[in-house]
Order: sequence, then C-alpha cells, then structure tokens
Amino acid sequence: MSLLKSLTQQIIQQKFIPNDLSDNDLAEFCQQANEAYRQGNPIISDQDYDFIYLAELKNRLPQHPLLQLVEPEGQGFSEEKVRLPEIMLSTDKAYSWGEIQKWIERIEKACIELDTDIKTIQIKATPKLDGFAGYDDGLHLYTRGDGKKGSDITRVFDRGLQVFNDSERGQGAGEIVVKKSYFEQCLSDSFEHPRNFQASLIKEKELDEKAKQAIVDKAALFVPFAQLPNWRGGINELSDNFKKIIADILIMVDFDIDGVVFEITDVNLKSHMGANRKFHRWQIAYKENKDKAQVKVLGVTPQVGRTGKITPVAELEPTQLSGATIVRATGHHYGLVKEQGLGEGSIVELTRSGLVIPKIIKVLKPAEISIPEICPSCSSVLTWQSDFLMCMNHAECPAQIIGRMEYFFKILANNDGFGIATIEKLYEHGVRTISQIYQLNEQDFVNMDFGDKTSQNLSNQLRRSFTQEIEDWRFLAAFGINRMGMGNCENLLKSYSIKDIFKLNESEIANINGFATLSAALIVDGLKTLREEYDYLLTYKFNLELTSLKQVNLDFSHPLVGRKVVFTGRMKGSRDEMKRHAKSIGIQVVSSVTGKTDYLIIGDKVGQKKIESAEKFGVKILSEADYINIITQ
Ligand SMILES: [Zn+2]
Repeated sequence: MSLLKSLTQQIIQQKFIPNDLSDNDLAEFCQQANEAYRQGNPIISDQDYDFIYLAELKNRLPQHPLLQLVEPEGQGFSEEKVRLPEIMLSTDKAYSWGEIQKWIERIEKACIELDTDIKTIQIKATPKLDGFAGYDDGLHLYTRGDGKKGSDITRVFDRGLQVFNDSERGQGAGEIVVKKSYFEQCLSDSFEHPRNFQASLIKEKELDEKAKQAIVDKAALFVPFAQLPNWRGGINELSDNFKKIIADILIMVDFDIDGVVFEITDVNLKSHMGANRKFHRWQIAYKENKDKAQVKVLGVTPQVGRTGKITPVAELEPTQLSGATIVRATGHHYGLVKEQGLGEGSIVELTRSGLVIPKIIKVLKPAEISIPEICPSCSSVLTWQSDFLMCMNHAECPAQIIGRMEYFFKILANNDGFGIATIEKLYEHGVRTISQIYQLNEQDFVNMDFGDKTSQNLSNQLRRSFTQEIEDWRFLAAFGINRMGMGNCENLLKSYSIKDIFKLNESEIANINGFATLSAALIVDGLKTLREEYDYLLTYKFNLELTSLKQVNLDFSHPLVGRKVVFTGRMKGSRDEMKRHAKSIGIQVVSSVTGKTDYLIIGDKVGQKKIESAEKFGVKILSEADYINIITQ
C-alpha cells in the first residue's frame, strides 16, 4: 500500500483531524474523497466532506482548483468527453437562514440596479435531488462531467429508463434517481447507498437483474428539474414561512434529497445576476446540518494561537457524531467558558456544522470553571479583549513565535518538512524568525540533531520554497498579519502591486472595495512590523507570481474599470450609495482631484474649485447621467 493510500485510510479512521494535515495532504484527500463519491463508492460521509474537509480546504486554500471547478460528476468512463449542449454549473450552498438572507440582499440589489419592484419577484423552491446529474437533449444523455464536457451515457435510455411523470425526453438538466421506498424494500440488501445503485445504472457493462427490474418498475428514473414539484411565492412569504417551506419540500418527493433549491424566476433579473465560473448567482441550495450531540466535558485546556489568542479546548467523553468519534472540541473563546460555565464535568451541545473540529454551541449543564491567569506558554499575565483572553507578549511568547513560523510554511504550501515538530526543534535551538530559518544550511540542521537525511531534505525544501513560483498574495498572507488572510491579500494586490503596499496609508486601503477603516489601520500597523523581515526575505529572491492589477476587470466590461474617479456635487441618487456601487464594479473611488484622477463625476451645485482642478489636470468631467450611461452600457 502506498504511503498516500495509508494516509487516506488514517484520515478516514479519524486518526488525523484536518488540523494535523499539510495543505497538500488535505487537498489530495479532498480530491480522492470527491472522486470516490462521484464514482458511487463514498469513503466518508457527505457531511464530513462538505462540513469538515472541504470547509477546511476553502479556509486554507480558497484558490484550490477543486473549489473553483464545478464538482465533476460521472468522470471515469472510457468514452471521450463531448461538449455539453449547455454549460451545467453547480449550485451555491447555504447552511443557514442568514446565508439565504444574504442571497436575498443580492437579489434586492439587482432589483435596484434594474429598477424592478422587489415585490413582483417570485421565488421558486424545489427539492434538491441527491442523484446522478445528467443532461438530456432529446437524442443523447450526457453526464455533467466538468460542467462543460461530459460523457455520453445515452445507453441508460436504451436500457429503458423512463422520464419522471411519464414526460418526454429532451427537457435538459436533471438527475438519475431511485425511489426511496423502493430502494429500502428491494435494493438495500444489495447496495449500500442509493448513490451506488444510481451509479451502477449508467455503467458500461451489462446491468444486473435488480437494476433491470428497477427500471421496468419505474423506480429508477430520470427526473428533469423542470418536472419537479415546487413552491412559489414572494420574498416576504419566504421570509415569514422559511421553516415550513423547507419542511414541506423535504417530503415532497419519494427520492433522496439533500436540501432545497431556491431560484428567482424573472428572466431579466436572472440574466442580470448572471453566473460566475462555478454557479449561477440567481440560484442557491439550502442544506440542513442536523448533526448535534450532547457530551460530557472531561477537562478544558488553554491553547495559545499564533496571534496570542487563548482558545479553550475541551477534552470530551468519546462521542459518535456524523459517523466519527469526537474526543475534543474547541470552545471558540474564553468568554463562553466564563458566561456559560464550560468546565470539567459540564455537559455541552456539539455540532460539526461548517467547522473543522467540532464546535461547542452551548453549555447545557454548567460546571465549575477555571480561567487561566497566565499564559501556559510564556507565563505572561493574560488580558481580556472583549470575549477573548489574550497573551500580549507577541514578541517573546514561544507558542506565538512557533505558531507564526509554522503558519508561514503552511500557507506557502510549496514545501514539506516544516511542520510543528521541526519548528519546535528549531525554536529549541534559538531560531525565532522566518529570516533566521532561511539563513540555515544543511550543516546547520545537522548541528541541531536533525539527522543527515532530514537535514538534506529540509535544506532542499527551503530552496524549493523560494525557487518555485508562488503567488504574491500567498507569500504576503504567510506572514499572518492581522486582517491579512489570503482573500484580503489577493484583494489588496489586485489594487496595488506588492512593491507599493508598504507605502499605503489607511485611507488608500480603506478605499479598496472590501476593506473597512478598522482593518486598514491594522493592516498598516502590521505591514510596518513586517517590513524588515520582508525586505530580508526578498534578498532570497522568492519567485513571486505577481497578481495582475487588471484582474479586477475580468468581471466587468464597462470602460471605467480600474479608473480613478471623484464624485462631487449633489447627485440624484445618494452619493455614498453611488460610491459604494462604483467600488463594487471595480472603479477606484478617490476623494480629491489630482493629476492621477481619470474622471470627475458631477451632480448639481458643484464647487468651482473642483472643476478648475479637473481642468488644470486634464481630468475628464462627466455628468451623473453620462456616468450611469457608461457603466450600464
Ligand atoms: Zn504567551
């Protein structure tokens, strides 16, 4: 058995939690789990895949191809892939009413942009089938494949498969499913899960008798989405009756379903909202995660993170949850310990929803608590910052120093060997900064008792980490500056090149869409502390792949993308709203007219001074109406 396979086995057996895995191992595991699922032989539960592994992957590597691609379905056939008649995207997912509300807000925004009355908007809700996706153009049936190209599996229809409701062929996208009641009665002895059975229907080799019979009995069917029973109503109705609507839809059909799909029906609004590479913005699937458990706490241990935050980690009586044995869970922050009485002997309610390690939702039965007064790593006196207990000894606290160094290599994700054990050992030998690590050579590692082979490997890995091309935003994020996660770094570097970011002031950062003033201040401070280390590391000539400043343009086609624009005067719409909207469509909003400004947008009652400076600097002047024409053309 290869090393990789045995690691997969150990992950399945929960000998590792995602936290223990390197980014590469995590990504590799997700890929394997995804393929296994698509082939009808899942190696972990859907819940674990969605909520634990994929969630962690999204957290660590938001750019990973697995998250960018439409989930492949029906891969692994020998046939050549053919272009689908229509692109089939995945569906965006929501796990709470809050997330559905955010989707509704996006609809409201689109309505404003189109000048459509939100009250006229109808929402359609249908069951989300947990079957095998396909596209029926009337002649052929295709698997979804990668969303653009799939395999021809028309043979399923040749084998007699019927269309749901005895309706016609050629209704586009749908799923091959099997009736739940039928599966339980006739097939559950032979197939572990309906998915295995559904996958078996399309396989190339001849069907077995049970599958043939299921087709004859019309228990196995192709269900075009257009044929699904549905609920329709306005946004208010949806808000008022959300729970009931979900409950009704979940029992609407006799097929396995794993959620509810909501979409808008207005054609103009749909085309205005459009799609990204992965899913349609006018559609969302609501999935429930009901997995909860009540567990006894055996003890609570404080853990120091790289930012100095102290996290209470509860050791638990081993408990089964979503098919896995849970032995510890994070209490998120010490505010929860204090307010709810999380301590040895307390009973807590656990969930795994959307989290890497299970989260404690609430304490059902409190117990005596113990709040640490000093940092378990450096013995500094701890301080409270709202709900968070913090060790403020950022410069010297061993746990924080080790955490930061480990984080750097983890985020870089192009090297191996610099996990927690290596970093702790380096720390013991006096290493405190990333730049110190980059000064080490093979002999230095040998002198620190690393062993010849390991030393050679570590030295090679270090070299690899700066010779291999790496995205500049990832490099920047690896330093773990407050508010500078991968997403923010990428956003920042879309507006300013990495060589310019140290010169930025708060207002320049706050002006980038997605950054608030508070974050901007923290980022400026953080960059200051990083400067020396950063300059030093660049002497190693890290091979940075620069984020293209124009990338911001990709989504927008109007001519003002990336331009510096000043708004002035009284506008017909609210000026703040206009600025916010402008930022959201890739325009750089600046406050004063300078030689770098591209356009001055004027409303009524504009001060003469603004006009004069615009003329002086040769800045083009647009009326509010001209501006709106340009961005909407
Ligand atoms: Zn400390």
